[in-house]
Amino acid sequence: MAEVLKIAVALDAKFFSLLERKAHDITPAHVRLLSKVIATSVGLKAAVVARDERESGLRKVLNLGHTLGHAIEAATSFQLRHGEAVAIGMILEGKLAVTLGLLDVRDLLRMKRVMDAVGLPARLPARLDMKRLLSALALDKKRSAGAQLFVLPRSMGKSAIDVPVPPLLIRSVLT
Ligand SMILES: [Zn+2]
Repeated sequence: MAEVLKIAVALDAKFFSLLERKAHDITPAHVRLLSKVIATSVGLKAAVVARDERESGLRKVLNLGHTLGHAIEAATSFQLRHGEAVAIGMILEGKLAVTLGLLDVRDLLRMKRVMDAVGLPARLPARLDMKRLLSALALDKKRSAGAQLFVLPRSMGKSAIDVPVPPLLIRSVLT
C-alpha cells in the first residue's frame, strides 16, 4: 500500500482521492476494490517506465519516499518493513516539500490520514538513532553542491525531481 500511495501522490491526484475515500475498505476482504487499486497503480507505473525506458528523468518520480525510506531502513537495521520505511519517508519528504513551498500543508495532512487508515506509520520510531540515519543519508549519491537531491511532491498528484535540499533543512524535519 505504501508503493500504491506513492504512485498516487507522485502522479495522480484523482487516484489519491479514490484511495482517500476508500482507505478503510482496501483490504483482502474487498477483493474487487483491492484488485482495481493494484491494477491502477501498476498501470500508472508502467506508463512512466514506458515513457522513460532509459531512466533519463521521469522515472525518478518512482523514488518518492525512498531517499529517506532507504536511510530509515538502514538506520533501523531493517527492523521496519520496506513499505513502513517508505511511508515514513514520504511523510518526511512531504514536510520538506511543505517547507519549500511546493506542497500545501493540507495535502500533507491528507497523506498522513490515509497512511493511518491503511495501517502505515507516518512517524519515525522513537528509538531511532539519528546519527545513523544522517550517515545513511550521507551515503546517498544523489547530491549537488552539498545539497541532497530529492523527489518531492509538488502539489497532490505531481512531483518535482532533483530538488536540492540543504542539510539543515533535512535535519529540521527529522527532529
Ligand atoms: Zn520501494
